[in-house]
Amino acid sequence: MQTRAAVLTQFESDFYVGPMQLAEPAPGQLVVRTTAAPFCSTDWMGWRAMRRKQPPVVLGHTAVGVVEHVGSAVRGFAPGDRVVVAGTPECGECFYCGIGRPDQCSVLMDGSDPVVATLPDGRDVRAAGRVGAYSERMLVQAIQVHRLPDSLPDEVACLLGCGVSTALGAVFTIGEVQPGQSVAVVGLGHLGLWAVQAARLAGAGRIIGIDGHPGRRELAVSMGATDTVDSGSSDPVAAVQQLTEGRGADVVIEAAGPAIATRQAVMMARRAGTVVLAGVAHSATEVDLPQLQLTVHGKRILGCQNGQISPRTDMPRFISLLESGELDPSPFVTRTYALDEIDTVVRRSLALDDITGVLTP
Ligand SMILES: [Zn+2]
Ligand SMILES: [Zn+2]
Repeated sequence: MQTRAAVLTQFESDFYVGPMQLAEPAPGQLVVRTTAAPFCSTDWMGWRAMRRKQPPVVLGHTAVGVVEHVGSAVRGFAPGDRVVVAGTPECGECFYCGIGRPDQCSVLMDGSDPVVATLPDGRDVRAAGRVGAYSERMLVQAIQVHRLPDSLPDEVACLLGCGVSTALGAVFTIGEVQPGQSVAVVGLGHLGLWAVQAARLAGAGRIIGIDGHPGRRELAVSMGATDTVDSGSSDPVAAVQQLTEGRGADVVIEAAGPAIATRQAVMMARRAGTVVLAGVAHSATEVDLPQLQLTVHGKRILGCQNGQISPRTDMPRFISLLESGELDPSPFVTRTYALDEIDTVVRRSLALDDITGVLTP
């Protein structure tokens, strides 16, 4: 099957945008025609060789679209179904799915990105995160596809598999934020801003947004932050302590990525507080932490992959929060782009000109 895609053939370079030949779908696979795909930090990190990607590769870690072809072994989908394609699969059969932790599904751990297509010159093309959303068509496993109601527009629905799942899961499921608690959010990009909204929904008393970018801090206030800290001009740890009677925040959500942000997140949580680490910098980044923070201070320091969500049960909840307007997606999609504009999307994302650019192949 022919498709047209934006293919990264060389790191930190312009994309090849043109035809490629999609592989023959396996019995457990679907072909989905892409209608919208977000471009977030995961994607520019892939572009910058920070994510062990292997060009030629189609980036784009999640998307919404319409099912075009259903493999012979796939049940529950038909051509014409509107779906969200998520980067994290849920096979329902492995050890981790069995213990209720599909965020660690063994299918996710099986190594490198699969080859899904060939270029006109014969080179194999991989799909980043088994998705490869910056393409008119995606060849994906049925276990990473979820049905979608018609209520949400494409540009909004495509955020479900991106910051929405990670941030809501970080606040509700992992951070277990309780009404009245103080929540500090380190980094106010796409992920951090969703975390601010989630903390507001959870009834947090004080929501402290931390970022060096004044526009992002302003946005955080419009979404429910009660206080902001300029990480460029002041020590965020001291600032958070000052706002929490010297103790530190009850829950800290780290949504920035650099090692220094991870360290600050741990330091600004109160004793016996909860730290949720959701940001990732380079795949090889290491973090130094004072041992006392990890032991005597009794902090709960928890990792966060895809918000630890169970897509089959959590996705419908998140959809209803967007439908009812309790979550406001309007500030997130700053611009939509055609596939041919992908080089512009990368540049604007790196310059922090977009919260989220959405490609509509
Ligand atoms: Zn599994
Ligand atoms: Zn994302």
